[in-house]
Amino acid sequence: MPECLFCGIAAGEIPATVVLDGKRVIAFRDVNPQASTHVLVIPRDHYPNVAALASAGDGLLDELITEAHQVAVAEGIADSGYRIVFNTGPGAGQTVGHVHAHVLGGRPMTWPPG
Ligand code: 5GP
Ligand code: ZN
Repeated sequence: MPECLFCGIAAGEIPATVVLDGKRVIAFRDVNPQASTHVLVIPRDHYPNVAALASAGDGLLDELITEAHQVAVAEGIADSGYRIVFNTGPGAGQTVGHVHAHVLGGRPMTWPPG
């Protein structure tokens, strides 16, 4: 069993409902959805958070966002609207230390979240 849960999912060693299977990016449904569409988009390589991914500077963060939008299109929520969230740090609710974009939609999105 790998040490990182999302590295395990990216490697296919831990089961997940995959909705997009790219060369550098993979997307799968959140096990505890907070909206009717709740998909996690991750790079296959391990970065602890979005700042570390941005620092890599190899276009992977751009690709992650592009794929997050493709997920929204495929889920039929691109026109109604969706949210991309990177929880960063424990105080913000980050519980998995492998960067992941939450793609949330399919219900009215309010701010603050509720
Ligand atoms: P965070 O709280 O770090 O921003 O987001 C972690 C997300 O991963 C949570 O929304 C949680 O429901 C989801 N999650 C935790 N364990 C698993 C798992 O084993 N499989 C899947 N598909 N999602 C998970
Ligand atoms: Zn990892």
